[in-house]
Amino acid sequence: MATRQVRIYGDPILEKVCRPVKEMTPRLQELIQDMFDTMYEQNGVGLAAPQVGVLRRIVVIDVGEERGEEAYVLINPEIIETSGEQTGQEGCLSVPGQAGNVTRPNYVKVRALDENMEPYELEGEELLARAICHECDHLDGIVYVTKVEGELFDVTEEEDEDAEDGSGSEG
Ligand code: ZN
Repeated sequence: MATRQVRIYGDPILEKVCRPVKEMTPRLQELIQDMFDTMYEQNGVGLAAPQVGVLRRIVVIDVGEERGEEAYVLINPEIIETSGEQTGQEGCLSVPGQAGNVTRPNYVKVRALDENMEPYELEGEELLARAICHECDHLDGIVYVTKVEGELFDVTEEEDEDAEDGSGSEG
């Protein structure tokens, strides 16, 4: 298990647009594994490559109760359908200790490549839809704080964990 340092909001790399992945390489495979390790170690539900300093269009997400249960790798993801609306608490591993309310679609369909560069489509509702939107935003240099309604607020460790159980998204 290898974890990488998560870039904190204010780091200019988080505001850059990431480049698409053209081919899978051992280096990118290692990056994906490290992204999962980093996300799990920090109890996040998603992580985008720029958060560990790599400007590539790669996202990992796991909103399952058990690790690996609902784990997805999204390479060059494209949101192709959305519907509905949800407003809820969102957090980000790059904005530690804080959260804010963000409105997102309640349903999202995304087209992406998996770790073998095979195309697939993923549909998500509620937390998964929120996580997909949040992580895809990172690939375009958008951090959720720019979409927060009202003020960011401080969350304690405990509340943080509660949020990860369902209502919030840490990515
Ligand atoms: Zn994030």
